[in-house]
Amino acid sequence: MEISLRNQVAIVTGASSGIGSGIAKSLASAGAVVIINHSSERSLVEAQAVLKEITDAGGSGMTYQCDVSSEDEVVKMFRDVISAYQTVDILVNNAGIQKDAEFTKMTLDQWNAVIGVNLTGQFLCAREAIKEFLRRGIDPSRSIACGKIIHISSVHEIIPWAGHANYASSKGAVRMLMQTLAQEYGANKIRVNSICPGAIQTPINKGAWSTPEALDSLLKLIPYNRIGQPEDIGNMAAFLASDLADYISGTSIFIDGGMTTFESFSTGG
Ligand code: NAD
Repeated sequence: MEISLRNQVAIVTGASSGIGSGIAKSLASAGAVVIINHSSERSLVEAQAVLKEITDAGGSGMTYQCDVSSEDEVVKMFRDVISAYQTVDILVNNAGIQKDAEFTKMTLDQWNAVIGVNLTGQFLCAREAIKEFLRRGIDPSRSIACGKIIHISSVHEIIPWAGHANYASSKGAVRMLMQTLAQEYGANKIRVNSICPGAIQTPINKGAWSTPEALDSLLKLIPYNRIGQPEDIGNMAAFLASDLADYISGTSIFIDGGMTTFESFSTGG
């Protein structure tokens, strides 16, 4: 059995670091042309390094700067990618941020920034992707499906998270966005799913793993007793995007080393 994404074009948002870079590399190794989206001039060097790893391994793609919370920039990104590669087959809505604060101290700017990237960004990219999927229709030389969207959500789409109300709210909403799109466009053979990572070792949660004490306390939440790596998510993204997953739509797949079994109840609660 082989996971193949040959002849397919994938946009991965926020792919210059962390989980997004792992996903970009996995999709490329399965044969997809990968668009490595990054948000700013500052992240260009990192995005280019991801592209170099991909091309050194025989894959192909391009970097593309776009702030996913900006409607104009997202529309332009899809237009430019389609003009360069004719179409888009796979969207991985990965870009995400945290702006943590105790709830009574959370500013509207902190709230809006997180909702803007984590939710509105996923809406804007999904909308442009679905427009393109519907325009192109099914092309069996590419995939049995008309198009695939993978939302990167979080265990916090179901686990409430004190001090992170904006983040948890954005991920809870992503679950409904994903399920609604899967329902609305299922008949068009567009598959929409979410991956919900637990603790993955990336810059977003450096404080949770960068000292032995922090890592020790994090591992108490993870029955499988290790922190996840970006390739743990990349492997699932490649499978979900492939025709091997053709009957999977409208679901959230948790990749969390068992975190959502609520380890703290393991001694009887
Ligand atoms: P990260 O900080 O390494 O990656 C986030 C990426 O999003 C960065 O490349 C950043 O440049 C990009 N980004 C931020 N704002 C953007 C914007 N406006 N437009 C385009 N790109 C933008 O962190 P990560 O852990 O790799 O996070 C990736 C996704 O995984 C996020 O959605 C995050 O919520 C989710 N997630 C991470 C974990 C974890 O433990 N690391 C757990 C659950 C969910």
